[in-house]
Amino acid sequence: MINKNNKKVSLHWRRTKIIATVGPATDTQKSIKELIKSGVNVFRLNMSHGDHEYHTKIFKRIRNCTRQMDSYTAILMDLCGPKIRVGKFENGSITLKRNAKVMISCAGGIGQEGLIISQYKQLYKDVKKGERILLDDGNMECRVESIKAKKVLCKVIYGGELKDNKGLNLPDSVVSVSSFTAKDKRDVQLAMDLGSDFVALSFVRSAKDVDGLKRYMQRTNKEVPIVAKIEKPEAVANIDEIIKSTYGIMIARGDLGIEMPAEQVPLIQKEVINKARANNCPVIVATQMMESMITNARPTRAEVGDVANAAMSSADAVMLSAETAAGKYPIKTVKMMDKILREIESHQWATGNFGDDLGIYRKVPSSRRAIAHAANNLARDLKLQGIIVPTHSGHTAAVLSASRPSSPLLGVSSSHATCQKLSLHWGIIPFQIKEEETHDWQQLSQEIGRRCKLTKTGNRVLLVSGFNDDESLNEPVMKIIKIKE
Ligand code: PGA
Ligand code: MN
Repeated sequence: MINKNNKKVSLHWRRTKIIATVGPATDTQKSIKELIKSGVNVFRLNMSHGDHEYHTKIFKRIRNCTRQMDSYTAILMDLCGPKIRVGKFENGSITLKRNAKVMISCAGGIGQEGLIISQYKQLYKDVKKGERILLDDGNMECRVESIKAKKVLCKVIYGGELKDNKGLNLPDSVVSVSSFTAKDKRDVQLAMDLGSDFVALSFVRSAKDVDGLKRYMQRTNKEVPIVAKIEKPEAVANIDEIIKSTYGIMIARGDLGIEMPAEQVPLIQKEVINKARANNCPVIVATQMMESMITNARPTRAEVGDVANAAMSSADAVMLSAETAAGKYPIKTVKMMDKILREIESHQWATGNFGDDLGIYRKVPSSRRAIAHAANNLARDLKLQGIIVPTHSGHTAAVLSASRPSSPLLGVSSSHATCQKLSLHWGIIPFQIKEEETHDWQQLSQEIGRRCKLTKTGNRVLLVSGFNDDESLNEPVMKIIKIKE
């Protein structure tokens, strides 16, 4: 059914991008280079772990590696936001027994059997009797029985072993803490100083949260594109305004699946991907994609299905967390993910359909959108070898990417920062040129076609140009160019 003649089309360029979190398992120069070779497009630094000295060291190391390898692999610094955590325990952990009572204290100190310290000091104000308190990614559950002074008395519903600093979620409560904490302020300052390509904002609830971070950065004149993490029910409810306010979206299924019924996450994922695409907003599917590879050399078949599903629903990128940050097989995991994506994409390519036609160009009048749709049809019907798109800020390339064309997209810019930013977007191969090369695109397309070996199975490419940031100045041109060998 899939490959009638058993003839496999293997795509040279993978379309779905891979994000890998760097941590103790992968923070050496050797591992970073190996990750790039294995296909990582964006590195994530998780600000929940490690201090500024560590992150600065790793950031510079990554930039050194990409420079040496002529790679545009980007960096995303992930702000931890108001992730609520428990404190430390006298012996490193306690055991919660079903039906037993446990006290959660907001008054500081150290935990012990029957006593958990909350690092979030306002917790007792936000919870009410009968509400659930989940611990360690939802593995344990308690129910609030009473609140006295700064102490919350709970009954254990599902027990287990609770270790130092594990996460705590309040799915039934309205949490008053801001999504941009004092630590986030220090961390975003570091991201701006280092020149990160993206910052991710955790536990976003509305567009106001994103705008707040934007304003904070604008004061310093070093704005970094924001990726809003969708991991609260409020964010799902406000998804339209969030997508309009942010550069990118991350479906952060780890916390989302605790804060909301887990069975709702798959459909939310599908809907958010489509909505993001409709707004040219790159969208990342994150968390537990290859979870079992933290300890095993092979993924479960269900994990393979999950990665495949993300590609089939046309996400821009898939993300690895502990698998690459702290796992036993980080390189193997990336290679496996790459293989799954390529398998699905070769099928999508053969059927000429990399994503549902969302009919966006009909809904929102925009010449970029209409041209993207036309380019998409041309590329598929004429089996063009590539679409070459000059892009200054990256916007034109992003719009073309959102229509998920079947030919590889060469996003051509004289800005190194733009090339790195394009690494996150579905199907875009960043290509940097010198400013003085931009006067003759016809000539340049020949050059790019040759250098990227776009003449393997044909020799025609599509050049899409003539866009301006001011829509009224747009004079788009589409030209089919023959590449001479
Ligand atoms: P985290 O975010 O890894 O920072 O918690 C991702 C998620 O919640 O899925
Ligand atoms: Mn999270």
